[in-house]
Amino acid sequence: MDVDVVVIGAGPAGLAASLNLARAQRTVALLDSNRPRHAATLQSHGFITRDGSSPLELRKLGREEVLRYPTVQHDRTLVRQVAHVDGGFLVQTEQPGSRAEGELRAAAVLIATGLSETLPASQHVRPWYGTSLHSCMDCDGYDKRGQALALIGETLDLVDRAMVIRRHTDDLAVFTNGAEVIDEAGEARLAEHGVALVRSPIAAIEGDREGMRAIVLEDGRRSERTGGFVRPWWHPQLGFVEGLGVDTDEDGLVVVDRAQRSSVEGVYAAGDITPGFRQLAVAAGEGTVAASVINRDLIARGR
Ligand SMILES: Cc1cc2nc3c(=O)[nH]c(=O)nc-3n(C[C@H](O)[C@H](O)[C@H](O)COP(=O)(O)OP(=O)(O)OC[C@H]3O[C@@H](n4cnc5c(N)ncnc54)[C@H](O)[C@@H]3O)c2cc1C
Repeated sequence: MDVDVVVIGAGPAGLAASLNLARAQRTVALLDSNRPRHAATLQSHGFITRDGSSPLELRKLGREEVLRYPTVQHDRTLVRQVAHVDGGFLVQTEQPGSRAEGELRAAAVLIATGLSETLPASQHVRPWYGTSLHSCMDCDGYDKRGQALALIGETLDLVDRAMVIRRHTDDLAVFTNGAEVIDEAGEARLAEHGVALVRSPIAAIEGDREGMRAIVLEDGRRSERTGGFVRPWWHPQLGFVEGLGVDTDEDGLVVVDRAQRSSVEGVYAAGDITPGFRQLAVAAGEGTVAASVINRDLIARGR
């Protein structure tokens, strides 16, 4: 084997795992295509000691810490395929841009690849995403308190999400962009909590350098909104482990036990790619658990 563990993804999950594996004196290849989902936002919140830091700064600090350990190598590369080989795994990579290929063998693999996402009313939402409009209510709700807020989405969970946002403002409107996703009971629940429901498709989002100001609808109406939330669609991208037969749930996320073990021996997963809450501290915590468990499992395998 070239290394004990290949960690795929250098977000908080992969970085925390790599740090703790290095401190367990494990050799680690940390492979990352450098496409973090949260790159759109300027500030991240809720991570103790780093509340308000830029998420890219957080990744940079994490990389610097991890790379102080001589047993960790870091490559900016895309993992294309992971396959079983001689009691371990063969990991095939491709350099983004150059298409130069590489491969290495590892006794264990940690999947920490996060998610990609698409946005509703994407061409209108995108310019405001990460500044006026956010996806993580738990991360950004506090900073929007008291404002005239929007929740934009086309999925069935909008009413529940509206209830979380409603705690931060008395002036909330849900925009379904023409999708029939809120039934009569949902509409009644929104009304009961003073939340407006707007079913018309979105024609534009207006604003200036200070931030967004209003949502304009295809039916000509205009709703003054200074910010809010969108409900993205999240996409796990796990083509690179297709041949391993890793179990996934109905959302395509990697099913893991409480120790971050997947259904395939020697393969672990942590962070957004597993079911559960999607926050920096959660991802880092899961990466930390995975590192301890991988170390112990390798010891049990005589390594
Ligand atoms: C706009 C936005 C704002 C957010 N704000 C906050 C916040 O304020 N507070 C908070 O706690 N959380 C926030 N989050 C959520 C938080 O960013 C995620 O929960 C967290 O980053 C997940 O960490 P992760 O390590 O699982 O994945 P990620 O951070 O997404 O990292 C995954 C890494 O894997 C790499 N990768 C993917 N596929 C491959 C492959 N095949 N080969 C090699 N590398 C690969 C990607 O390039 C990426 O670098 C926000 C999310 C978004 C989208």
